[in-house]
Order: sequence, then C-alpha cells, then structure tokens
Amino acid sequence: MPILVMKFGGTSVANPDRIRRAAKRVGLEVAKGYDVIVIVSAMSGKTNELVGWVNETSPLYDAREYDAVVSSGENVTAGLMALTLQEMDIPARSWQGWQVPLKTNSSHSQARIEEIPNENILAKFGEGMRVAVVAGFQGISPEGRITTLGRGGSDTTAVAFAAAFDAERCDIYTDVDGVYTTDPRISDKARKLDKIAFEEMLELASLGAKVLQTRSVELAMRYKVKLRVLSSFEEPSDEAGTLVCDEEEIMENKVVSGVAYSRDEAKMTLVSVEDRPGIAAGIFGPLAEAGINVDMIVQNISDEGTTDMTFSCPTDQVKRAEKALNDAKAAGSIGFEEIIADTNVAKISVVGIGMRSQPGVAAKMFKVLSDEGINIKVIATSEIKISVLIDRKYMELAVQALHDAFELEK
Ligand code: ASP
Ligand code: MG
Repeated sequence: MPILVMKFGGTSVANPDRIRRAAKRVGLEVAKGYDVIVIVSAMSGKTNELVGWVNETSPLYDAREYDAVVSSGENVTAGLMALTLQEMDIPARSWQGWQVPLKTNSSHSQARIEEIPNENILAKFGEGMRVAVVAGFQGISPEGRITTLGRGGSDTTAVAFAAAFDAERCDIYTDVDGVYTTDPRISDKARKLDKIAFEEMLELASLGAKVLQTRSVELAMRYKVKLRVLSSFEEPSDEAGTLVCDEEEIMENKVVSGVAYSRDEAKMTLVSVEDRPGIAAGIFGPLAEAGINVDMIVQNISDEGTTDMTFSCPTDQVKRAEKALNDAKAAGSIGFEEIIADTNVAKISVVGIGMRSQPGVAAKMFKVLSDEGINIKVIATSEIKISVLIDRKYMELAVQALHDAFELEK
C-alpha cells in the first residue's frame, strides 16, 4: 500500500481533543488506502517548559541530559495519538526514536540524522498495522544515548521518514494554512501561495519564516520529497495548503515570490582593520569556530591601508561574536580599533527563482526603498534573493512597499 507521512505540530496536538481532530484526519487517509506514518510534536508550549526546567536545574547543562528531558514531550503525544487511533478502531502503535531506530550522530541538541532503517515499521504494516505514530524531534546516537534534532526538528523527522519510506507525500499540519507571500501580520495583502519551489522555501525558512525547519526543506529538496504545508483547523480538501515542490512543477513563475524579514539580525563593524592578505580569514575563521551565523559581509577600503569590515549575524550571537573577535585580537592574529554592534536593524529580503532570468530586480527593490526614504546599510545577493539591512523602525513600511511594488497580492 502507498505510504503517506503526516506531521502534526504542537498546536495540532495541544490537548486530547485536538489529538482526536488530528486522528480523524489520519483516519480519512487510512480510509483512502494509505498506510500512514504520523510524526508528532510535543503539545504546544511543552518543549519550552522542559527547556526552562533544564536551565533552572543546571545552567551549564550536560547536553545528553538536556536531550533526555526535552525529548520527552513527544513521547507523550505519540502514545496519546496511538491510543486515540485505537479508540477509532484503527490499528496503530507508537514508536520512540530509539525504537525505530532513527540513528543520528552524537551532536546532542543539534543532532543530524544518519539513517532510518525501515524494516521494523514495514514489517508491522505487513502484519496489518495501519498507522505508525513516531515521536518527532528525537533519535539515538552511536553511543546509545537519546538525541534531539534542534528546535523545530519534528519537521525534519517527517521529511526524513518520507524519504526513507518513499512516501507519496509529506503533509505538515500546522496552525497556518500555508506559506504566504509575506507575513499576514505585517501586510493584509499577503496571499497564500498554492505552490513554492524548494529553493525559494529554503531561502524563506532560513530567513526566519517559522513554518518549516530549514533542514527539513534541505532534505526535501535533496530527496525530492513532495511537501505540503496545511492547517489542521481547516476543512480537509485536496487544494488545501501550499505545496513545496520542484520548480518544474510551477507554471506561473513570478519574478519575486515572497518578501521576508528578520528583526533579529545585528550589524557588526570592525573599525580600522589592517588591510593585508589573510585578514578576512583571520576574522571569519574565529567567528565560524564560535558558531556565529554570519550572513552579509561588506568591506570598505580606505586610503590609509586600513579597512572597515561589516557583517551581519543574529542578535543573540553578538556577545559571542565580540568575544571571539576580541580573543583573536588579543592573540595577535588580527588588529582593529573597535567593534561597533548595531542591533537596531532589520533584514528585508525579496526571494524568487524568476530572478535568475530577469534582470533589474535589485534596481527595482532599491528604488522602492529610496522612494520611501529608507536608507540601505548593507546589501547581499544570491541567485534568487536580495537582502538589505535597514533601520528596524522602517521594517513594516519596507515590507509593505515591496509587496505592493512586486504585485504579490495578485
Ligand atoms: N517540540 C520540538 C520543538 O518545539 C520539536 C518540534 O515541535 O518540531 O522544537
Ligand atoms: Mg515547527
């Protein structure tokens, strides 16, 4: 029988009643003839509570015990979901990560999936089981310890299962009804997209669109898993949600598909850096080692043989970045006058695969911002994305103006 993966996020399993609603959706797919693998998150708020308890108990916690604690939320929902399905006379059982086993590496709290053997679950389907309920977000390390996949990791569990079982589709049930051209809370003209290309979704996810964990999109792209994002609160229909798919499957190719923003990006400037070969490596090497996610980089050369180096990174990594740079300076590997951290900025990006073949998108974006009197502080581009840093107070205005200018409401 064809296999379908259905993933339910925290709000969709927030209490026994919601779990029943979700189970009914699973029942509809079972009735269509699918064997279903259900991936569940913890009840909404649960993981945050567990993380809080760990921090309260041991601020410099042992990551292996962190994983033991925070993985437990999913165990509860997996068992409850299996019980609910059994109450509906649907043959189901639950699986914790280690029982599958979902094998990961040993990077506790950020583990990466290495392998999902499918024999155990397929054997159960062969015996008449119709639904395997799997606790998302968790796995087992080569040392036999429980691991977790990073916040939002159940999305990645779901896509990895879809790939490992060659599922027909991976449906991600959440509390929004799909992927939007921009955040509907910022622009009331935001429109739900019927389809979006993997690469566009990857950019949007890494820019902070919270619907999908970035790694889940990477995996889906690599294994060509058809992903659908949809709401568990809307009436079931075949047209519901947004399909994340190969770009060949998308007919109406707009130049720009979405406008994203991030208010958590900071601008860091190293003033009067000595200008000589190796200096960029001297700066960004230590930052990489400290795990800083550097995004945009700009270098301004001056006449006096020095340069100002500007880059952006998430606001909550500023302190760590400063420490890494000051340590490198103290060790004599780089020289600079001072570090200026500006946390009053926001990053605005326009994303679209159509940009590859259509020139002038950057020019248009800059014109729109200048017409609104918004100053651009840093620019970065990729093949399908243009990002700028601006003063945070203009963030909403910029998003709305760009959404209008690229006619995304149509
Ligand atoms: N419960 C985990 C979290 O909140 C994993 C997930 O729901 O995707 O991060
Ligand atoms: Mg999530």
